[in-house]
Amino acid sequence: MDAELGSNPSYVWRSLLQTRDLIWEGSIWQVGDGEQIGIESHKWLPRPPCFRPGVDKSLKVSSLLNATTRQWDRAKIQSLFHDSTKSDIFHLKLGPPGSRDKLCWNENKSKTFSVKTAYQIAVKLLNPPSGEHSNARQDVRMWKTFWSLNTPPKVRNFLWRASSDILPTRVNLLRRKIQVDPRCTLCGQHDETTTHILWDCPYARNVWALVRGKLQKSRSGVLSFYELAQMMMTRLTTSELETWAMVSWSIWNARNKFHFEQVQTPPCVIFKGASSFLEEYKRLTGAFSNR
Ligand SMILES: [Zn+2]
Repeated sequence: MDAELGSNPSYVWRSLLQTRDLIWEGSIWQVGDGEQIGIESHKWLPRPPCFRPGVDKSLKVSSLLNATTRQWDRAKIQSLFHDSTKSDIFHLKLGPPGSRDKLCWNENKSKTFSVKTAYQIAVKLLNPPSGEHSNARQDVRMWKTFWSLNTPPKVRNFLWRASSDILPTRVNLLRRKIQVDPRCTLCGQHDETTTHILWDCPYARNVWALVRGKLQKSRSGVLSFYELAQMMMTRLTTSELETWAMVSWSIWNARNKFHFEQVQTPPCVIFKGASSFLEEYKRLTGAFSNR
């Protein structure tokens, strides 16, 4: 469970790690002999433990058990954890004597894995916790502008998700407690935020360099994609906004293609693909509305 994602993971490996993240999120260790469970590195308590100062966090749970009785060593637990954690530990049911540690599915009562619970957890991982709303979600004007763009609906939807900061970027995954290196998988120099992927990363800059007009010259210097989108809305014409949306979407897709298929798409191919897709879409919707 401690493996890390390398710089160029294969699709299978990535899928496995994603499954692992899912299992990590939805499962909990049941203490048997405690030999496999680190007191800090593993999830074995209903909530994260609170340690007293100076505790060696590399200890195994086995060190909290009395060697003879195989029951909790109350004095030791008292010395290592704050009261809330102490009580969490004493409420845990230990496995039968001599049993080994077991990883259990935690999200439904029967503690068995089901596709439905896995799906619910996957959704939970990729969406902000309830009550956490980004600026974009509350911004009616932005919503209306995006929705009036003449681009395929999936592109508008993408722009909305990007502005709401709910795309699975590495920084967002980390925010959802999925242990990944936050640095950009392509340039390795900056944190992989939405703005970085779609605008500031050298990989994205090479694509934007091919776009004529004001768009190319608009440098960000802003923090969130929401702010970038606001800046674009004030500076660009509708047609330029449509190009911006379409190219951003294509950059995102090209990055996914790199992650999942190890195919790096050249900037000119990304740009040409985005332009011709947009032209074709406009031609078709124009043909419909002119009937
Ligand atoms: Zn980058």
